[in-house]
Amino acid sequence: MSVDIHQFLKKYFGYDSFRPQQEEIVRHTLAKKDSLIIMPTGGGKSLCYQLPALALEGFTLVISPLIALMQDQVDAMLANGIAAAALNSSNTAEDNRRIKEQIEEGILKLLYISPERAVSASFISYIKRKKVSFIAIDEAHCVSIWGNDFRQEYTRLPELMQHFPHVPYMALTATADKATQTDIAEKLALRKPHKFLSSFERKNLHLQVQGSVQRLNVIKDYVIQRKDECGIIYCLSRKSTEKVSAALCEVGIKAAYYHAELKADERNRIQQAFQQDEIKVICATIAFGMGIDKPNIRYVLHFNLPKNIESYYQEIGRAGRDGLASDTILYFSFQDAQILRQFIDDSQADESFKIVQRSKLNRMLEFGQATSCRTNMILSYFGEHRSQPCGHCDNCLNPPEYFEGTVISQKALSAVKRLNDNVGVNMLVDVLRGSERKEILSMGFDQIKTFGAGKDISKEDWLSYIGQMINQGLLEIDFTNFNKLKVTHIGDEVLFNGHQVKLTRPSHAPLSGTKIKSKTATFEDALFNHLRDVRKNLARHEDVPAYVIFNDSTLQEMVSERPMYLSDMASISGVGQHKLDKYGTIFLDAIKTYVMKESSPKNIKGKTYQETFTMLKQGASPEEIAKERGINVITVYSHIAYLYEKGEAVDISTYISDTEINEIMQAWYKLAKPEGLKELFVHFKERYPYYKLRLALSFIKKG
Ligand code: ADP
Ligand code: MG
Ligand code: ZN
Repeated sequence: MSVDIHQFLKKYFGYDSFRPQQEEIVRHTLAKKDSLIIMPTGGGKSLCYQLPALALEGFTLVISPLIALMQDQVDAMLANGIAAAALNSSNTAEDNRRIKEQIEEGILKLLYISPERAVSASFISYIKRKKVSFIAIDEAHCVSIWGNDFRQEYTRLPELMQHFPHVPYMALTATADKATQTDIAEKLALRKPHKFLSSFERKNLHLQVQGSVQRLNVIKDYVIQRKDECGIIYCLSRKSTEKVSAALCEVGIKAAYYHAELKADERNRIQQAFQQDEIKVICATIAFGMGIDKPNIRYVLHFNLPKNIESYYQEIGRAGRDGLASDTILYFSFQDAQILRQFIDDSQADESFKIVQRSKLNRMLEFGQATSCRTNMILSYFGEHRSQPCGHCDNCLNPPEYFEGTVISQKALSAVKRLNDNVGVNMLVDVLRGSERKEILSMGFDQIKTFGAGKDISKEDWLSYIGQMINQGLLEIDFTNFNKLKVTHIGDEVLFNGHQVKLTRPSHAPLSGTKIKSKTATFEDALFNHLRDVRKNLARHEDVPAYVIFNDSTLQEMVSERPMYLSDMASISGVGQHKLDKYGTIFLDAIKTYVMKESSPKNIKGKTYQETFTMLKQGASPEEIAKERGINVITVYSHIAYLYEKGEAVDISTYISDTEINEIMQAWYKLAKPEGLKELFVHFKERYPYYKLRLALSFIKKG
């Protein structure tokens, strides 16, 4: 098969290079072989089937579990000029007729379908004589009972697949440990599939854990500083989602809450508004997630502790799909851990299941308390072992400093002993800090020797130290007895034999991986916001999510490159042929007018240039400027060329066309880059006036 897949990548998707593994997967599929693809959320799985779908004859079936997901993908494909459709229950008869027509005419390239529909007798009898190029099964972990989200219909997919013995199958997932991987391959009857296992590391995600004291206020400050960005805040209960959302709305943030008890249309409305960037922050229970393919989520915060590392990683994975730096912060609390443990204990599941759930929760606790690289901890949880530090987690960026913590530990251990191993973490901290709350007084805890012995240490720090002591095995939590603390034999060593303890100070400041907007927004920020507005209007008009037009990383590249011509625009990542034709001029104009209007000179020396620049921005033509200033028009053009070369916001395309520049550029190279303009002038037999030559030269020099 001799298709130029790089050309396809640029033409249809606007990308210059493949992400890791994508190219190998595409080639493997074009060679008609089966594959199992395990790639983290946001890694770029869709392209792995979308590109071969375009290159192969016929159309590709994509099995996808959620209607919302299908629709977003179809919108994204259509925006790139690719014929895609979804067959699902929300279609009208007319929709279905049109899809069949596109299949008959051989136009359709991708058909998204739910698993239940795909295995229905009527669909199979229709499809089996059609030209299916290959079958991709997204969210393939749904086929395995070991996976996170088992779905019976997935196990019937081989009934469909057996009708197409000669097409390749591709199964894709972001969550599958080793056992699940093997199970997927078996249950889907893949034929000697090649396993493409990507690293689970998400380099653009900044991982951080903070204490939970005052978390609502901390979160408020965090969100206010990023009020133009989109984020998700995960909470444990319906009530906290409402509380957090209300607190944010109160300070003027466009926030909403989302949980399973909302009516379906309300949930859809919120999801829709979030996709369109109209709601900026969603405070949600875990009910919110599947079906969110929004690429520009800049942060995911965990107001509460997630129940295991799988859920945590899946949830933070929703941040930064577009590859831009994004924050994730977990507000760690022992109380949450107690609540989660209670859920497990109270559930109807059998004991063996509960044991697994408890040990998963323990791993989550270890993660929260870790003092070494957090990324490596997660990777090893998923079976990827690595020792070099990641450089994008809090522990790598701000390595904890150890200090001699023996005396502090002894105070805590002694208090636990004196309270007869009969207090939980919070009560212990209150006793150490000498709180006089009612329970303490009524229980007589204020009478013990260590009451108030740790007044000088904040509550938050105490919580951290006790967490570290639990991790170091000095204390343990008795889950069978209301989570009371107990001193272990190692703790006894510390208390009675002076065994040394090292502790680390918790960090309080949110270490942000993303850029916080300064109060005086830079010109770049302002232009970016302007382009977002342009995008939002287009999206509203076309009734698609904003990112379907262009995603944030594409807009950011436009901001930094400031394209002036369609040819510059075409080289921006994310601008394929179809989008170039459709939106290229709109965004070029938006950039030019904004830049002309708003920018102030920064690189230009010399008053004369500045004067010309000011007049240009006021809309004067070179002729008018020359007249007004009493200088030669050629001089004005040379000012314009100078300004342009210096990177100022002048639009030379008003005075010289793309083709003219090209022609002059070719001649310039042919003449071995002459210094002066004379040679060019002669070369073109005076066809180009000097000022155009000068402008073209400024374009070449700017590069
Ligand atoms: P996944 O399904 O693995 O979670 P997606 O397929 O939704 O991830 O891709 C995540 C994001 O990455 C999308 O916004 C997509 O446009 C972008 N993307 C995919 N491949 C590339 C690439 N080669 N270059 C740049 N961006 C890409
Ligand atoms: Mg996907
Ligand atoms: Zn790290």
